[in-house]
Amino acid sequence: MGFDTSGLLPLSDALQGMLEQLACCCDSEQLPLPEALGRVLASDIASPLAVPPFDNSAMDGYAVRLADLASGTPLIMAGKAFAGQPYQGEWPAGHCVRIMTGAPVPAGTDAVVMQEETQADGDRITFLAQPEPGQNIRRAGSDIGKGACVLPAGTRLTPREMPLLASLGVATVAVRRPLKVAIFSTGDELKPVGTPLAHGDIYDSNRYGVRAMLARMGCDCLDLGIIPDDPAQLRAAFIRADEEADVLITTGGVSVGEADFTKQLLDELGEIGFWKLAIKPGKPFAFGRLPRAWFFGLPGNPVSAMVTFDQLVQPALAKLAGQRFERPLQLQATAAEPLKKSLGRLDFQRGILSQGPNGLEVRSTGSQDSAVFSSLSRANCYIVLERERGRVAAGETVTVEPFGGLLL
Ligand code: AMP
Ligand code: MG
Repeated sequence: MGFDTSGLLPLSDALQGMLEQLACCCDSEQLPLPEALGRVLASDIASPLAVPPFDNSAMDGYAVRLADLASGTPLIMAGKAFAGQPYQGEWPAGHCVRIMTGAPVPAGTDAVVMQEETQADGDRITFLAQPEPGQNIRRAGSDIGKGACVLPAGTRLTPREMPLLASLGVATVAVRRPLKVAIFSTGDELKPVGTPLAHGDIYDSNRYGVRAMLARMGCDCLDLGIIPDDPAQLRAAFIRADEEADVLITTGGVSVGEADFTKQLLDELGEIGFWKLAIKPGKPFAFGRLPRAWFFGLPGNPVSAMVTFDQLVQPALAKLAGQRFERPLQLQATAAEPLKKSLGRLDFQRGILSQGPNGLEVRSTGSQDSAVFSSLSRANCYIVLERERGRVAAGETVTVEPFGGLLL
């Protein structure tokens, strides 16, 4: 892991360093399909069926044999095929079969001609257009072949996957148990919402952000509340979290110097690295192992806590939970105004992305101080400014990362 001359660890090195050490720690269980929403698949799902299971009509119209249409004379309707009620009668030459969408096409059908391209006179049907072979027939297996992998292990089940699995007749699925994550906030100044503030106090906001992001990820959260800057209480909280959870996430008290006993305790209880990351916001960050649980120590500043969770902790938790993780989409946009930037750290500035007359443009949400929480709530994207980039002039192209996933 390369610390550069400034002593700051690049984000990509931090991420790689963490992910190399982590492996999925969640066992699997078999759940009925509706209960598996939000869970992560423990194994690939191979289709037990071809989809569609039989050749069927994509239109309301007439099933025809091309040879019967060659003479151009009208065809006689032999009978009807409905979805769920296949046509089972005879189909002599010179005849067609009236067919509805989703009905199995009768054996020998070359094409289905849509109703709008025909004229009916009693059961004499005139065809106004010559169909292509296979036209309006959905072939068996054209969507999914029998045995094909439809969803790989690691897929988190969303409403998009539920009807797909149901269409295959999948009644139960092997999914991972949720990752159990203990959280607490540290700081003598922190008070829970719903209580009055004394002079010098602030409300604990980080825990609400972290809890919300854990909920989005489908983790089980053990919320240990606010722990004061007191070694005995911190020690008890670390030990409890380690006994009861797979992961502990704390916020505050990881900037070096100011809360030395946190560092002392963690050094004593486990193997924790205190990193200075080359990102802004979010410099102080701690990562390592307690005797049983993994530990992530986020900075106390609210924006830093959210950004480090989003950029670093999210991929790590996904790996522990057995979930495939894809980096968010990055786009190019034009800076609609100048952006302040100092050299040496990768900035995740909070921006407002919009569609301008000449394409995507982005503005800053204003103060980028990591204590200014409104900068995050008004934003809809990060403006990702490279480490060695300086001030950005209006009109320059910048990389943006629209919020999705956790920060939607
Ligand atoms: P620390 O990392 O503990 O030095 O905290 C840095 C800054 O973030 C200080 O201004 C803290 O008061 C503030 N802070 C720490 N934890 C929280 C929290 N849970 N909610 C809101 N602000 C916090
Ligand atoms: Mg503190």
